[in-house]
Amino acid sequence: MRELTYVARRTVEWREVPEPRLRSDGEAIVAPVAATPCDVDSAILAGHGFIDPPFALGHECVARVVETGDAVTSVAPGDLVVVPWSINCGGCDRCRAGLTAHCAAVPHMAMYGAPLGGDWGGLFSDLARVPHADAMLVPLPAGLDPVAMASASDNWPLAWRLVAPHLKARPGARVLVVARGSVGLYVCDIARALGASAVHYVDPDAEHRALANGFGATTAETLEPTPHGFDIAVEATGRVEQLALAVRSLTPEGICESAGNHFRPGELPLLDMYLTGVTLRVARDNVRAHLPHALDLAASGAVAPEKVVSHVLDWDDLPSALPENHLKPVFTRAVD
Ligand SMILES: [Zn+2]
Ligand SMILES: [Zn+2]
Repeated sequence: MRELTYVARRTVEWREVPEPRLRSDGEAIVAPVAATPCDVDSAILAGHGFIDPPFALGHECVARVVETGDAVTSVAPGDLVVVPWSINCGGCDRCRAGLTAHCAAVPHMAMYGAPLGGDWGGLFSDLARVPHADAMLVPLPAGLDPVAMASASDNWPLAWRLVAPHLKARPGARVLVVARGSVGLYVCDIARALGASAVHYVDPDAEHRALANGFGATTAETLEPTPHGFDIAVEATGRVEQLALAVRSLTPEGICESAGNHFRPGELPLLDMYLTGVTLRVARDNVRAHLPHALDLAASGAVAPEKVVSHVLDWDDLPSALPENHLKPVFTRAVD
């Protein structure tokens, strides 16, 4: 089968590898039908990652189940499923506590699309092996479009987690979003749907800002710190100086959530943060734990993740089209 492999800055290519096979009766083999780059993949393709190529890329897709082991009961061949980006067992103490990105039964950092914690391949491959299939795979709710939900493995439920629990605790909160890609736009959509009284989106990209406007956000190219301006700040730029601006704009005892992936070091205004009383969270997303909530919101019709999809492209065009600088291209193919 073909495995889309990141080989150098702005360069990916198909490499032929053996088809994955079931290694236990609890596993499944899936075929991605709609896959899209995570915002981190875009940073990797631009040469900002910290892992030397080559490696199989991709960790966001909706897939068709093609084979299941005898012990798998929750999904069957033919089902459309969301494949979470991180590998987890569902049964260890951490998984049961909801810390699915820290599963104790698989190597630390085990994930698709990066050779961390073992080699699990990528979700821009023709096929992928899913261990612990009952614990990992989530059937795509009826009525949801695989193209619109290709990001359900990671960026969509990440965006839900960055803002939804905080809006529940602080109804009507004012939300600042400092971002560069799909995560921040999903946050705007979700924040408005869940009752934020104001959403302000900061991004130098005019196309992104237009989408944020469509989600009801006010927008700006750059951020002047607005002391006490916002109750919740979400930073999804991978830039420490942007995170610093975000925390400087919080109300006393405000919350800042960061999507992380700051590949370069930087400084945070810790004294300012102390004086304001800032809670800052920088955490890999335990996606499997809250994925059902994020899918429920998508299925409710109160949000429009399809608006963030910038291009729908053919699977065979991955090597040429993925390195282009698109917001959220989704690569599709038919698999029965
Ligand atoms: Zn990701
Ligand atoms: Zn586990």
